Amino acid sequence: MEHKERQLLSGNEAVALAAVHMGVTLGTGYPGTPSTEILERFSHIGGKAQWAPNEKVALEVGVGVAWADGRALVTMKHVGVNVAADPFFTMAYTGVRGGLVLVSADDPGMASSQNEQDNRRYAKAAGLMMLEPADAQEAYDMTRLGFELSEQYGLPVILRMTTRVCHSKAIVREGEAEAREKVPHFVRDATRYVMVPAYARPAHRRLREKLKKIAEWSEAAEINRTVDGGKALGIVTSGVCYLHVREAVPEASVFKIGMSYPLPVEKIREFAKGVERCLVIEEGDPFLVESLRTEGIECEGKDEMYRFGELNVTRIQRIVARDNSPEAPPAKGKPPQLCQGCPHRMAFSVLKKYDCIIEGDIGCYTLSVLPPPPLVMARYSLSI
Ligand code: SF4
Repeated sequence: MEHKERQLLSGNEAVALAAVHMGVTLGTGYPGTPSTEILERFSHIGGKAQWAPNEKVALEVGVGVAWADGRALVTMKHVGVNVAADPFFTMAYTGVRGGLVLVSADDPGMASSQNEQDNRRYAKAAGLMMLEPADAQEAYDMTRLGFELSEQYGLPVILRMTTRVCHSKAIVREGEAEAREKVPHFVRDATRYVMVPAYARPAHRRLREKLKKIAEWSEAAEINRTVDGGKALGIVTSGVCYLHVREAVPEASVFKIGMSYPLPVEKIREFAKGVERCLVIEEGDPFLVESLRTEGIECEGKDEMYRFGELNVTRIQRIVARDNSPEAPPAKGKPPQLCQGCPHRMAFSVLKKYDCIIEGDIGCYTLSVLPPPPLVMARYSLSI
């Protein structure tokens, strides 16, 4: 892609800009850190945006736009995908006509979330393409690529961002805005969009055939690439970990994965054969290392202690050195709290007065357990 203007953007702002440049018909989603700024920015720079009452509704609205040959951007945080899981799995069978990019903003380390689930597993479970940018420039480029791939293969694409990619700023060179003059129009086709068993069975076979073709694309794609270095150590990595790896061990060869599903298995096999020690460095679950070992690729993963929290340059140097000694406790950060003027403060005050146990539906409610008052117990929540 030819780039022209340069701007300092966060990953979230870069996704929004790319969506505008791709002529997205509608951006929709449900707010939640670290994804919220995407739709806000999209609306601010001229995109048509709507918040939905929850993530499931957002995804269903987005699928409707894409079935009608429009382009839809759907945003949510990682736990929001749990709420949207019902349409999420079935849209892999129905497919789409126009492009649909679903941003899953994961939160390794739980800066502002109730769990650190790793949504790479969702891509494999549903059979949907997943792209993983490392910085704001890639967030821009991969959002554009996501719409292209979505329309090429007639399937939604998941853009997996993580907190650091969403919020870190970098210089972004933007491409040309695409002139898209299609007027969305829905064409009735029950065999394609109504997943009764008689239509769903062939739809599942169609999905698996598409995935074979996408796997071939993944093998040849430039977003899955080798960065040459020494042969003693080869590191397979993706997302923001790529940047940490380059800084932590600049002498190593690196295989950078841009498409986390389907993986370019044969390309990685060749890479692993060419180095003496093949090490997989990934935040969160051992998703890559398990996938590669299933394919018979010999590789080393991180110790279980590095499954928790974000990785950084120091932690990656420790992984490379097989240093599993206790880590220094992280510096204390500013504790989160309900926003000043949050309308729920009053409700929590009353609930506290009556010593209630609270079960909430959004994660902000968990903050009611922290000072300043009201101090009440938020027992469980679904999303922030
Ligand atoms: S703390 Fe209250 S005001 Fe702030 S985002 Fe949560 S619900 Fe909204």
